[in-house]
Amino acid sequence: MNEDTIAAIATALGEGSIAVVRVSGPDAVDTVAKVLKSKTDLREAPSHTVQYGWIVDREQGQDQELVLDEVLVTVMKGPRSFTAEDVVEVSTHGGIVAVKSVLELILRSGARMAEPGEFTKRAFLNGRIDLAQAEAVIDLIRSKSDRAFQMARKQAEGALSKMIFPMRQKLIELLAHVEVNIDYPEHDVDNVSADLIREQCTETLAQVEKLLNQANEGKILREGIMTVIVGRPNAGKSSLLNALARENKAIVTDIPGTTRDIVEESVALAGIPLRLLDTAGIRETSDKVEQIGVERSHTALVEAELILLVLNHHEPLHEDERKLLAQLKDRPTIVVVNKIDLPGELDVSEVERDYPKERIVSLSAKEGEGIEALELAVSSLFFSGKVEAGDMTYVSNARHIALLYETKRSLKDAIQATYEGIPIDLIQIDIAASWESLGQILGDAAGDSLLDQIFSQFCLGK
Ligand code: GDP
Ligand code: ZN
Repeated sequence: MNEDTIAAIATALGEGSIAVVRVSGPDAVDTVAKVLKSKTDLREAPSHTVQYGWIVDREQGQDQELVLDEVLVTVMKGPRSFTAEDVVEVSTHGGIVAVKSVLELILRSGARMAEPGEFTKRAFLNGRIDLAQAEAVIDLIRSKSDRAFQMARKQAEGALSKMIFPMRQKLIELLAHVEVNIDYPEHDVDNVSADLIREQCTETLAQVEKLLNQANEGKILREGIMTVIVGRPNAGKSSLLNALARENKAIVTDIPGTTRDIVEESVALAGIPLRLLDTAGIRETSDKVEQIGVERSHTALVEAELILLVLNHHEPLHEDERKLLAQLKDRPTIVVVNKIDLPGELDVSEVERDYPKERIVSLSAKEGEGIEALELAVSSLFFSGKVEAGDMTYVSNARHIALLYETKRSLKDAIQATYEGIPIDLIQIDIAASWESLGQILGDAAGDSLLDQIFSQFCLGK
């Protein structure tokens, strides 16, 4: 347990109706009690109750109490709290001024300013959560879309840990078994051991690979699906990009692009984060960059995880568009027939020959009409049977993925070795390595530097 009591603002700074100052440590209750004026003395308040009162600065002089804010104060005595220490949360009115002055007062009355991630670090060090859960908290803070948020939540609840525990348990039992063999070689059960090792490692390997497959989907969610908008000049690519960005403003992050066209934009469609790329935005700018532009469009198309092919409803199909349709028909492509507010000149049946109806969407980027249909098409393309709510991805973090690959390598080495008649005590090293790398996901074998690295990624107050 830590000796000192820490405090920080736990809510995002900026607008918002309330803000929370979180205090954790042995003197948490006492520290806040010193500055709180309430009906019940905070020191007498039962755990997990909320007190109403005012934060007052009493140092102004005996008669001159300065009331800083009207607050609600929650007391959570350890170990039944986030950090497993005594935790007090002071909900102030929103706005930076109020919450900052309350924090400053609490710091003056004895608490120390928390370092980024220190609350979560304490929760981890006090055994409240494991490392995978701690990292999930980071993701929770960072996740921009609902789906990424749900995934991080799942992980925070220990979903990944729950899968890894039994895998490690099996491996440790295997190690124990092998150990016995090495200690009593006269039993001559080496052959049995080789079979057992092969069987057990193969089973664990399959589980690791399953997690890795899910991880790839998780990565897509985290970073946004790389979505490329293609089409002839004037089809309405930039307009579509703008329309999508406008309708999904809440999570738009601006990436400064060219002056005329937005080149890249992050949006969420139906909760799925997309990284939208308007390749032609580059091409249209000038002749000089055209070469680079075309090249980039080409690479972008190859790497795209989702393609929006924009056609002009107001014009007949162009030869370039026929080529694109054919080229992209086996890719995750959605055909966007744009400008349906204008009279139709496009023969859609030609498109329908190669593309199923649910992957052709008609809309007007200019009028903002039909965008929902596009959302539907995008989400059904990505989530039809592929990712179900109950089978949400568990692994979503680069460190976890690296460790799973390490585990996979060790397990494969162990399996391979059983075929090559390598002595059991050498194979044992590979099994132990896989047990260890799995353990690192949970933070079992984590050294201090790893811990510091992970927890320094947090915002203050978490
Ligand atoms: P890009 O070259 O493919 O990026 O196309 P732009 O987005 O720059 O649009 C080209 C022209 O078509 C502009 O004048 C737009 O205002 C117009 N436009 C784009 N979408 C629509 C639409 O849905 N309806 C109509 N009527 N005009 C559109
Ligand atoms: Zn454009």
